Amino acid sequence: MVVAVVAAAGSGTRIGGKLPKQFLHLCGYPLIVYSLRTLQLVPSVDAVLVTVPQGYEESLLHLCREQGFTKVRRIVCGGPERQDSVANALQTEEVAGADYILVHDAVRPLAPAELFERVLAAARRHGAAVPGVPAVDTIKELDACRNVLRTLPRESLRYIQTPQAFRSDLLLRAYAEATQKGLRATDDAALVELLGHPVYVVDGAPENIKVTYPHDLIVAEALLQRAAEVG
Ligand code: C5P
Repeated sequence: MVVAVVAAAGSGTRIGGKLPKQFLHLCGYPLIVYSLRTLQLVPSVDAVLVTVPQGYEESLLHLCREQGFTKVRRIVCGGPERQDSVANALQTEEVAGADYILVHDAVRPLAPAELFERVLAAARRHGAAVPGVPAVDTIKELDACRNVLRTLPRESLRYIQTPQAFRSDLLLRAYAEATQKGLRATDDAALVELLGHPVYVVDGAPENIKVTYPHDLIVAEALLQRAAEVG
């Protein structure tokens, strides 16, 4: 069984406004609808769990019923940080029965269905897989005084996206170890890396942007509109 965890419990403060960004409307629908709609159509995904901020459980349930998202099996209350929200979802009985787990950010509405299948296929071969796109900017590491420590070789750098896919025992072990040792990371793969297990990188999708700042909303809306026109 393949379970997808959609992380949607952020407060979205960097984007401004009161409503968390995953609930802002884009082309007529709340942002979160797009990733749930895609997951509903991904043949390999059996069940979807969604983490939401406290108080949003009812409105998400209503949205899922209205949109016919029958794969959404559970709505989980999130924690203070993304890692805590995903950890909460990993405690559920749906995850206990999973062979593979996908973790996806609700604020990536443009992740195509084939990307979910691609990372999953790679996770079946390698245990853990993430999508990455080549870095287009030169990336430099700074010291505390904002002086450049080093320039990283761009050819080997990738911007890592979600969905990320894992054999479930591996992801559960990574989260258990993180909890035990107090480790924090900005993505799920980093916790698997800390176990010393390799993480394979498949080609990501350039349009799979993470809606973070106000201008991302404009870009995402334009891309969603184009996708709707193309059909
Ligand atoms: O904050 P950031 O943009 O990194 O969030 C990535 C994803 O993780 C978002 O979809 C957000 O809703 C989710 N998140 C969460 N629980 C938190 C913080 C973020 O599920 N406490």
